Amino acid sequence: MSLESLVGLSRTLGAPSRQYVIIGEGNTSLKRDEESFWIKASGQMLETVDETSFVEVRFGPILDILERQLSGAAMDEAVNAAKVNASSPLRPSIEVTFHALLLHEFGAGCIAHTHPVPVNQLLCSNRALEYASHRIFPDEVVLCGPRSAFVPYLDPGVPLAYGIRRAAAGYADQYGESPKVILLQNHGLIALGKNPTDALHITEMAVKAAAIYTGACAVGTPVFLSEEDIAHLHKRPDEIYRRRQFEEQ
Ligand SMILES: [Zn+2]
Repeated sequence: MSLESLVGLSRTLGAPSRQYVIIGEGNTSLKRDEESFWIKASGQMLETVDETSFVEVRFGPILDILERQLSGAAMDEAVNAAKVNASSPLRPSIEVTFHALLLHEFGAGCIAHTHPVPVNQLLCSNRALEYASHRIFPDEVVLCGPRSAFVPYLDPGVPLAYGIRRAAAGYADQYGESPKVILLQNHGLIALGKNPTDALHITEMAVKAAAIYTGACAVGTPVFLSEEDIAHLHKRPDEIYRRRQFEEQ
């Protein structure tokens, strides 16, 4: 997978008409190999990024921040030590810890983190957990999995990374696979894709599901798919085949 594909994904997510992010919101990353990954640098706008807007960082020192619970100057030092090009003035996004953990421990190839208006309307309401834990139409199950992992509000940075690890591990225990969507209360959406196209499709479907759910609440009471229907869709061979096709695009 190339940095070029990550630039393309980032610009698409940042297009103003989509209302997924504004100004410097959101961040994206792509696994290069077992040693390192690219992540958007702090302060860059997704809409206008190019190849020079990303920092290549090694997993080791970043995961160390979580293992050794580093903070302050020790954490800054670890982030600098992680940069493959030590002389680059760019700093990785403040969310570099959760990107490292999802790419390294949860099998993702590409991470897209955004703050879409339709999703955040729900995540900033008392419907947040209901939206995360239900599915409302079949293609949502196919792209976004049987439910979303949900993380109660936490401070961005390392505290949020610990919360994300707990939520993703709980999901993996229940379903035997990693989540496709992680929802952060009062904050935003994380899509775990195999590649940039997959991460875009998951984001688009989660945003569509949020808009439909909100509309269903406006016209009446939302009618969710049953657990049986969800399990059936999730395990159906033809749907698994279709999902793989999405992932491989
Ligand atoms: Zn965010």
